[in-house]
Amino acid sequence: MFPTSFNSNSTIRLDRRKFMAAAAGLIAAGVLPKNVMALAGPYMFKQGAYDVTVVSDGTLLLPTSIIDSGGKPEEVVKLLGAMVQGDKAQFEASPLLLKSGSEMILMDTGAGGGFQPTAGKILESLKSAGVDPSAITKVIFTHAHPDHCWGTIGKDGKPVFANASFHMGETEWNFWTAADLGSKMPKEMQGMVTGTQTQLGALKDQIMLFKTGAEVLPGIMALDTSGHTPGHVSFELAGGDGMIVTGDAITNPMVFFAHPDWKFNFDADHNTAIANRKKLLDMASAGKKKLLGYHWPYPGIGMAEKKDGAYVYVPQA
Ligand SMILES: [Zn+2]
Repeated sequence: MFPTSFNSNSTIRLDRRKFMAAAAGLIAAGVLPKNVMALAGPYMFKQGAYDVTVVSDGTLLLPTSIIDSGGKPEEVVKLLGAMVQGDKAQFEASPLLLKSGSEMILMDTGAGGGFQPTAGKILESLKSAGVDPSAITKVIFTHAHPDHCWGTIGKDGKPVFANASFHMGETEWNFWTAADLGSKMPKEMQGMVTGTQTQLGALKDQIMLFKTGAEVLPGIMALDTSGHTPGHVSFELAGGDGMIVTGDAITNPMVFFAHPDWKFNFDADHNTAIANRKKLLDMASAGKKKLLGYHWPYPGIGMAEKKDGAYVYVPQA
């Protein structure tokens, strides 16, 4: 049930819902261990020069009120659909693996062990994809929130991806590593600041910083999609009409394609986040570019079609 090799024409996908239902029965019967339900299987496809694999860091449970619809919470619940569990919703967390020649590039490292018990599973997922962490040659970050970068440094204080170089947008790096950041952030954000500064501090002598608008790695362009964080970037991959790894510029496709103006309460600057989200959706729909979202229903790949001043999400997998 897991891929054993990269094949340009094949896609391998486990239907998460069917898998979960089947696994639940087998677990109840004692055939499978409980942790088998934790992860969706790696999903593979080809984009330009890269063999792309969507891997899973697990899931995050967030209150549905994280989405501010301006007074229509029932609309949010309706749009989130099967993600909803009581007053919370289950969001996927899906880093990407890009392989080309001898390069094995990881986009975001997941949450590590210290964030939510349902997340931090990237090493299990990479193992399912047949990839050892020592084989990763480059790690490239969309932004430095816990669920995207706390999987970088292990408990021993050393990089989990020991042979990789690390790449982050300059604005994002400068924001999070500022010595006085803690004193500027509200009390409830202190844990996040400390955790991220611990992760990034361990990389300070080796991090490679890039600017937006530049080709960061061959065929990979960094786009300024700030707003979610001050230096958040998305990545456009060359090939065909192009493909944009949106990161957290669009945290849910059902909600924010239909309502790009609604607010995501983890966004640091709502106006900038909304403007960049619209720009991204406009560019993708006009150029027929494929979009990927870190937190979208697995494997999180789709197109945006313009309709009545907003967009319709057309999943591609
Ligand atoms: Zn995130």
